[in-house]
Amino acid sequence: MGDPAHNRTMIPEYVNFILLRLRQAGHLAFAVGGCVRDILRGETPHDWDICTSARPEEIEEVFSDFPWIDTGKRHGTIAVIVDHRPVEITTFRADGAYLDNRHPQTVTFLNDLEGDLSRRDFTINAMALDEQEQPIDLFGGRQDLQAHIIRTVGDPRERFQEDGLRILRGLRFAARLDFTVEPETARAMIEERDLLKNISAERIFTELKGILVGPAAVRILREFAPVFFTILPELASMEGFEQHSPYHDSDVWEHTLRAFEASPAEPVFRLALLFHDCGKPACFTRDETGRGHFYGHPKKSRELAEQALRRLKCDSDTLDRVLYLVEKHDTWLPETEKNMRRFLLHEDVDRVRDLLIVERCDALAHSPFGRDPAIANVDKWEALLAAVLAEKPCLSLKDLAVSGGDLLSLGMAPGPLMGQLLNDILEQVADGTLENDRAALLAYAKNHI
Ligand code: ATP
Ligand code: MG
Repeated sequence: MGDPAHNRTMIPEYVNFILLRLRQAGHLAFAVGGCVRDILRGETPHDWDICTSARPEEIEEVFSDFPWIDTGKRHGTIAVIVDHRPVEITTFRADGAYLDNRHPQTVTFLNDLEGDLSRRDFTINAMALDEQEQPIDLFGGRQDLQAHIIRTVGDPRERFQEDGLRILRGLRFAARLDFTVEPETARAMIEERDLLKNISAERIFTELKGILVGPAAVRILREFAPVFFTILPELASMEGFEQHSPYHDSDVWEHTLRAFEASPAEPVFRLALLFHDCGKPACFTRDETGRGHFYGHPKKSRELAEQALRRLKCDSDTLDRVLYLVEKHDTWLPETEKNMRRFLLHEDVDRVRDLLIVERCDALAHSPFGRDPAIANVDKWEALLAAVLAEKPCLSLKDLAVSGGDLLSLGMAPGPLMGQLLNDILEQVADGTLENDRAALLAYAKNHI
């Protein structure tokens, strides 16, 4: 980058304070890693990491009058809190095998920056800022940033063998920044993909979500499909699986990627669309005309999605929402206001909204023949849902003008019969046969006790 637009104002006050204190105590200290990458791209870093020649005890000494957190002192990392912001300070080090994405099993502390930069994963992540806030770039990180390239520091095969998670980290940066992976690095990612089998589920899932919400996620899924089929074997049979249906003009995997591409960049939608049709190959049949059918595939997809997401230790909220969307993605929704109201008595409105988003993405990825009618259906359901909700209908017991307490004062005994009566009243109100009016409902209740 020719004339870097970074003057001495890039590093925020609280970070500079830490750098100066370390330097005044006679240590080397630099801002390093992701923050340098972000600055050179003209973005504001979401956090700042500092590396230093000071050993952990020396860091503690320099900041003895500040609160700090031991975020990995054994590995040379201490977070000092300045202005309520924790800043990670890490002693220059060389790494042994990694346990998680920041903490190798064994480390050797070093005295110079060079060794510390060379242990870092990608050239764009292996730069520091010197005292003048000029980049220290030993591996061509700036050039790669400019050319939009992800490249490992050193031999990609060796670097992935040290830590297989780097394969997914690299894909995450490529998806997030819309960068291409340099050919040698790309080949090694695919050839060494089995290394991911030794990486913990939590680490994999975190990186996977990061990839899936990236602006270039679809390109990365396409280019590195074998890597994804290694961590998600449930998806593999979709590739090349022809559908033999007028509603589709692509194999199941290509359809999946197209639907995925149309979806909001949030983990729940991205995961739901990734899995929505993965049960299709197992449910495939052909009728006498040769046409393909996939009866029962949403259920099968749900089963496979659940298996995959549980293995990856997905949190339960995400799991619930994704499985709901996968299982229901093919649902034919009600077509009259009355049926829509009834439907909403048993469904959460937010989930139905999410479902319509998923059904629309699915519709958009159909063949030209299948697409328009499918989109028209979603439009119709969306309009119907909006119309029904605009009437502020009574959709749950808490919206009802009478309560369990009212039935008690009418002399009804608490118990299952009371619940039944309340639900009966709710259904009638939703149907419009009873008005949600306190006097009217009390009169109705009196008659039915
Ligand atoms: P983000 O914006 O996602 O935080 P980042 O580059 O800051 O990106 P971190 O995971 O916070 O990524 O790691 C900080 C730095 O530590 C990286 O820039 C990189 O230099 C180094 N690093 C992190 N994980 C690894 C790893 N597994 N192997 C090698 N270096 C790593
Ligand atoms: Mg970071």
